[in-house]
Amino acid sequence: MLITILFGPPGSGKGTQAAYITKRYGLQHVSTGDMLRKEAEKGTDLGNEVAPIMAEGRLVPDDLIVRVIEARLRETNAAGVLLDGFPRTVPQAAALDEMLRRTGRKVDLVLFLDVPEEKLIERLLGRALTEGREDDNLETIQNRIEIYHRDTEPVLDHYRDQPATAIEVVDGDAAILEVAERVRNAVDRHYRDAA
Ligand code: AMP
Repeated sequence: MLITILFGPPGSGKGTQAAYITKRYGLQHVSTGDMLRKEAEKGTDLGNEVAPIMAEGRLVPDDLIVRVIEARLRETNAAGVLLDGFPRTVPQAAALDEMLRRTGRKVDLVLFLDVPEEKLIERLLGRALTEGREDDNLETIQNRIEIYHRDTEPVLDHYRDQPATAIEVVDGDAAILEVAERVRNAVDRHYRDAA
């Protein structure tokens, strides 16, 4: 099973690109943001706990999200998994590495969607109009980008220190289909090798 992390700041296009990649390679799309939003909509205990945190653009506690991911990975038997929105902190990455190690797996590839900051804000404000996500307003967006720099960016260095994990940087500052092609080329290099 190939484990890929789709990594990037909020608004870098992870969700959109994930839809293309998972279809092409038959991967299971595991989006922690989508999972938490569903729980919040259903009004489960978990959903009620995370809803106010998400609305402010803060991160939910590491131990909570690690439990959610662990349960999700246990029940999947796909050829591979695409993690979207997880891990978002170094402790989450360490917990992921440990849970994979227990079953003889590892993070094979980190796909980093690189997009300049002013584009992120523009895109997220645009998404606020079209998708109406509650956390896509200017104050929350700035909060999320700040948290990304502080807590999430170090995850990239965590994997740079691990020779068994490949990192591909994809310039995500282009039209959706152009970025999709860049992503495809980057992923092909690894999946061809691994297949
Ligand atoms: P996303 O759709 O990936 O932007 O996630 C939306 C929100 O869900 C985030 O702003 C966080 O509040 C929460 N969330 C999603 N994934 C994580 C994670 N790995 N760690 C902590 N909070 C998360």
